[in-house]
This record gives sequence, structure tokens and C-alpha cells, in this order.
Amino acid sequence: MNSDSKQAKPLTPYKQEQLKQQPREAWCGKMHSNIEEAIVCAETNLGMHRKPAQPYWGKTRFGEGVIVGWQVNDAKRYRLDFTPNFQEENAKAAEWAGTAELKGSQGVHVNEENFHDPIDKNRSRICHPTQASLQWADTYWRKWTKSR
Ligand SMILES: [Zn+2]
Repeated sequence: MNSDSKQAKPLTPYKQEQLKQQPREAWCGKMHSNIEEAIVCAETNLGMHRKPAQPYWGKTRFGEGVIVGWQVNDAKRYRLDFTPNFQEENAKAAEWAGTAELKGSQGVHVNEENFHDPIDKNRSRICHPTQASLQWADTYWRKWTKSR
């Protein structure tokens, strides 16, 4: 095989997705039994627990124009997320994350982002895994979106 043509090959969507994920997210260190607990953990890290916050609009597998989380600003926020291929993602993350369930035992987790004033810049993206089901996540998205 010609190595030049191999290098010229465009990146696969899988590879592009992998690169987009850099820097890797860190694990918060806990497996949260429910979504509320994961949210409190993220809010506490972000210093926004029980403080006014702006909605973080996004889309879910159920639709667009949904409040998926809350933010201080677009560099400091969290969103409730679901990874459909969580078993595969969990297996991959197990090699470096320190947990075999980074994306949650059923795929539901909270993604915390702080590019504004992180204590540690290598931990600007933190994942909070939960044991909650997708149905629970949908309940939150609906409740949040309805409140607006
Ligand atoms: Zn957490």
C-alpha cells in the first residue's frame, strides 16, 4: 500500500468526531443515582447552585428548540445529555476515564463546561454519569422547556 495516498485520505466521520472531543472530558468522580444529584454536582463546581441561570437551548433526539441545560454564559454551563451508543462510548472511555460508565449506566449524563474560569484548565469539560434512564432525561427537558 502507498503510504502517501493513505495519508491523503479524508478523515472518517468517526475520526472527526474523535478529534472534536479533544481535550477529553474528565470524570467528576461519582456515579450519580439520579439526574438531580448530577445537576447539583455540576452546579456546585460551576458556582451556580441556587443562582439565577439562563436557559441553554439545544436539541435532543426528540426535537429541537429544547432547554437542555442551564448556563451562566456560553463558556460556563451544563447540559443534560444522552449518548445512544453509550455501551461503546463507555468501553472506549474506560481506558482513560477511571470509570467504566462515564456516559452513565443507561447513557444519561450531565456535561459540565467551564472555559471561562476553570480551576484546572485540563478539567474544563467534566462528565457526571447517572443511573437514570432516557425517559427521566426527557422528563427534565420537557419540564425545563415548558417553564419558558
Ligand atoms: Zn458529578
